[in-house]
Amino acid sequence: MQLKIDLHVHTFYSHDSLITPKELVFYAKKRGLDGVAITDHDTIDGALKIAKETDFLIIPGIEISSLNGHIIGLSLHESVPPELSVDETLERIHEAGGIAIACHPVVFFKESLKGHISSRFDAIEVINSSAFPFDYSVKRSQKLASNFGLPCVAGSDAHYGPEIGHAYTLVDAEFRVDEVVTAIRKGLCSPHGRAIPLSMRFKKELLLLKRRFG
Ligand SMILES: [Zn+2]
Ligand SMILES: [Zn+2]
Repeated sequence: MQLKIDLHVHTFYSHDSLITPKELVFYAKKRGLDGVAITDHDTIDGALKIAKETDFLIIPGIEISSLNGHIIGLSLHESVPPELSVDETLERIHEAGGIAIACHPVVFFKESLKGHISSRFDAIEVINSSAFPFDYSVKRSQKLASNFGLPCVAGSDAHYGPEIGHAYTLVDAEFRVDEVVTAIRKGLCSPHGRAIPLSMRFKKELLLLKRRFG
C-alpha cells in the first residue's frame, strides 16, 4: 500500500505555528494525504494528545533543537531533551524505539546540521517546502543522502494550515505508525513536493504578527 504522508508539520504546540488540531486534519484530508507526522519544536505533548483524539493517521514526532541543528524523531512516546549533542540525541531517539531524520540539512535561516550528518541517521529530509533557497537545498540534500546511502523523505515544515502537504513522502507500508517507520528505515519511500509559494509565507507571517500584537 502506498501512503502519502507529510512527515514534518507543526501545530500550535510550537510557539511559531498557527495550526490547530482541527485545521491539521482538515488540510491534510484536503491535500489527499493519508497521514501526517506532528513534529513540534522540543515537545511531543501536542502530537500524543492529537493522535489520541483523531482517527486520522498521526505519527507522533518531535523536532529537537540539538546543539548542532534540528533533528526529527518519529514514532516516540516521550520527548527527547534539546541541547544535547547530535550523537546523544540520536542515541536517545533510538533507545526510545524511534527513527531519526536529518531535517533541512542544508538551508539558510534554520538550524541546520550541515557537517553533522552521518549514517547513524535513519533518513534525510531531502525536500522541505520551507527551505531557502529551495532548489539548492534539495540538490545538496540529495547528494548527502546518496553519499551516506540513506533513505530520502519529504515534509512541508508547515506552520500554517494551507502549507500542509506541499511536500510529502510516499511510503510503501500498511496503515500503522510502526509499519510506516519501519518502511522508512528500510528505504521503502520516496520524497515529493515543492516550495511553499512566497505569497502564502507572507500571509503566515502577517497572521503570526497579528497573533503576537493584535
Ligand atoms: Zn527546523
Ligand atoms: Zn520544522
